[in-house]
Amino acid sequence: MVLHYEYCPQCGRKLSLRESKEDGMVPWCDPCKKTWYDSFPTAVIVLTYNEYNEVVMTRQSHLTYRHWMYNSGFILPGENAEHAAVREIKEELGIEIRNLESLGTYWFRGGVLMIAFLAFCPKCEFHLSDEVEEAVWVDVKKAAELAGPVRPGCADFAMMIDYVKKYDLCDPDELWPGQTIERPDPFAF
Ligand SMILES: [Zn+2]
Repeated sequence: MVLHYEYCPQCGRKLSLRESKEDGMVPWCDPCKKTWYDSFPTAVIVLTYNEYNEVVMTRQSHLTYRHWMYNSGFILPGENAEHAAVREIKEELGIEIRNLESLGTYWFRGGVLMIAFLAFCPKCEFHLSDEVEEAVWVDVKKAAELAGPVRPGCADFAMMIDYVKKYDLCDPDELWPGQTIERPDPFAF
């Protein structure tokens, strides 16, 4: 879903390449005097926990029919990532999260930049949207079981390990025994 521009989205003319000091050769529209950088959708993914160290796992078969996961959604134009996280959780689960903390950023299948958050919500009932079939509060071991086998590069697994380490809930190696979590170093360029 990374969009690389060959024609100007504003005037429709074919773009040329222009040297930029910082970014090398970049697509450029001379009539519009505008650079067209590649663009891609940006989404938030939220791991919500409560005062009993339980986390929310949801089943949404339009996204994945096999596994349970956390809540996620695209950021709307003009919205910041924190607002998107609060809005998505409100829409999907009918609950109000707070105390958002960053858990880093991830590329999802090479096409969506995922901004990951840890968020708190006191234990309460859900009021699910039509998009969500089921949502449950479960402890981290049950959550790991529901998430299923580790899928390389997915934010879910690394986020859970960050949460478990932060609150010293269990040995992270117990969550997915024998499976390695791919945890990219964000500063390794
Ligand atoms: Zn143009």
